[in-house]
Amino acid sequence: MKLSLVVPCYNEESNVLEFFNEVNNAFLCYVDDYEFVFVNDGSDDRTYRNLRVIYETNTAYNIQVLSFSRNFGKESAMYAGLKAAKGDYVCIIDADLQQRPEIVLKMLDEMEADPYIDCVAAYQEERNEGAFLTKFKSAFYKIINKLAEVDFVNGASDFRLLNRKMVDAIISMSEYHRFSKGIFSWVGFNTKYIPYEAEDREYGESKWSFLKLFKYAIDGIVAFSTLPLRLSTATGFITASVSIIYLIAVVLQKLIKGIDVPGYATIIVLILFLGGMQLFCLGILGEYLAKVYVQVKNRPLYILKEHLGKNDEND
Ligand code: UDP
Ligand code: MG
Repeated sequence: MKLSLVVPCYNEESNVLEFFNEVNNAFLCYVDDYEFVFVNDGSDDRTYRNLRVIYETNTAYNIQVLSFSRNFGKESAMYAGLKAAKGDYVCIIDADLQQRPEIVLKMLDEMEADPYIDCVAAYQEERNEGAFLTKFKSAFYKIINKLAEVDFVNGASDFRLLNRKMVDAIISMSEYHRFSKGIFSWVGFNTKYIPYEAEDREYGESKWSFLKLFKYAIDGIVAFSTLPLRLSTATGFITASVSIIYLIAVVLQKLIKGIDVPGYATIIVLILFLGGMQLFCLGILGEYLAKVYVQVKNRPLYILKEHLGKNDEND
């Protein structure tokens, strides 16, 4: 098998058939040896039924449909898809047609033109979303690039073509809190970035609320940097030092000049400040501890309910 398309689907009932047709049209004269790996991430609409119909009525095509027992999130869906994919090249692509299948052909060309490239990743030069969200995302990339030891490219999505070596490396990382953008960089290999323009969603709506994005951003930082822990140590150290200096100054003032410093307000402010600082640092510690707690439970990343086409080989 030359190419596998890994397609995470969560409530995409109106998109999956159109996606399937559009890919087949785009690939018609260019690629013939490819498979679809649809991952139904616990959708509560008719996505799975529609995927099943696609699978049953298109026996000439290579199609796998994995279905989770509930919604485990796109990260788990991508991981399951990568594990099931049989292709020499694997492309992760959304089901909502925001990422055009024609770009996959461009990625394939880039990949085949240079044997030293292991991954072709598409990035959005211009995001067609609100100014606030764009600012939030660029701030996130600035912060995470300062904190983490691996590079994160602003605008690069999960839409990318990987070769077998890189896919195997990614599968070998089975951590529970997955943050693919970091994992792609962490495993190394040579990545070529090509610009693309995201289309508008065909049907349905984005699953990302601002709160979800914010949580995802924090998860990314915690997963790829331990610097916040060290920062909290540093802040603790600095505030403690400043308060000792302040104490010495007050004592000296009293001893030398005999001035009684009226300290009620200062003490309240200091107590609140130190209390706040301590809670803040405890919070950072808690973020890491919570991740460790979940990881040591060693729960699976997803639970598979169905796997259609697992052993089919149509070519
Ligand atoms: N998705 C998923 N599980 C989720 C959320 C999203 O598999 O919990 C899929 C979704 O069906 C789509 C892709 O991930 O194919 C990208 O999601 P979405 O379009 O909502 O994200 P956006 O394009 O807005 O970043
Ligand atoms: Mg989308």
